[in-house]
Amino acid sequence: MAMILRPDTPAKCCSYCGSRDHDYEDCPKRKADAERQREEQQQREQQERQERQERQEQGSSRERFLAS
Ligand SMILES: [Zn+2]
Repeated sequence: MAMILRPDTPAKCCSYCGSRDHDYEDCPKRKADAERQREEQQQREQQERQERQERQEQGSSRERFLAS
């Protein structure tokens, strides 16, 4: 038989990290990266919110100073 059977060839192959233990959808690295990206974005948003708050506080204290 010239048919090449390769039963050891796994059906799964991750196109994200190249692992054959899982496929792309189940990739733990992809999930970890997505989680990290989300955390970074949250931190960025938090930082922006904090900066905006500080600017507002500075502005209101200046208004209070001018009002007194
Ligand atoms: Zn993977």
